[in-house]
Amino acid sequence: MESGDGFLERRKRLVSNLVSAGYIRTKEVEKAMMKIPRENFVPRDLLTEAYIDTPLPIGKGQTISAPHMVAIMLEELMLEQGQKVLEIGAGSGYHAALTAELVSPGGFVYTIERIPELVGFARANIEKAGYGNCVEVIEGDGSKGYPENSPYDRIFVACGAPDLPKPLISQLAEDGVMLVPVGGRYFQDLIRARKKKGKLLTENRGGCVFVPLIGEYGYE
Ligand code: SAM
Repeated sequence: MESGDGFLERRKRLVSNLVSAGYIRTKEVEKAMMKIPRENFVPRDLLTEAYIDTPLPIGKGQTISAPHMVAIMLEELMLEQGQKVLEIGAGSGYHAALTAELVSPGGFVYTIERIPELVGFARANIEKAGYGNCVEVIEGDGSKGYPENSPYDRIFVACGAPDLPKPLISQLAEDGVMLVPVGGRYFQDLIRARKKKGKLLTENRGGCVFVPLIGEYGYE
């Protein structure tokens, strides 16, 4: 087993590369990605690959997203302390933990996952990383959102949707921002939308590749 210092060195190198490449643009995102150990969110047999900038399998045909994609999404969301955030697709819990770090203190992250085994995986990882008090992992179909605690300041979908899911639009707060990979089952465009006076202003922030959003407002 590799020492903690080995991981720290690799994390520093990865984060520095993400800064040089322009994926990380703010000090806040850089600090969060330096603080949270990605090795704690990948399966044990893939520990040595935790700091390669690539998605990795986490079981059940799902992946933890590549670090550069997570960095892009954290920057595009313009997260601030105190915000209430909804994530669809908890997976390993890594992206939710980073989001919690960026909205702390005072913020909260709700993250929904449809695969029960991954709900347990994400919960355990988040707890171990110390974010159990500001992240709740919910089992269910996130394409319907989570109306119980709406409206949300920020909503992001960590899987590819055929369109902006309607329930998420209505659960977004006025002036809130939402980020959704929209397109086909294999390739999508990252769409950022801000709600202004009840209307959505959308921008295409570039191409991306995500596993599909499966559910009532996603794919079958
Ligand atoms: N954010 C994750 C992380 O940090 O590891 C990676 C997300 S992974 C690319 C996409 C996840 O979305 C998968 O775990 C998948 O099971 C989940 N998913 C797909 N459709 C869903 C739905 N309707 N509701 C909730 N989760 C869903």
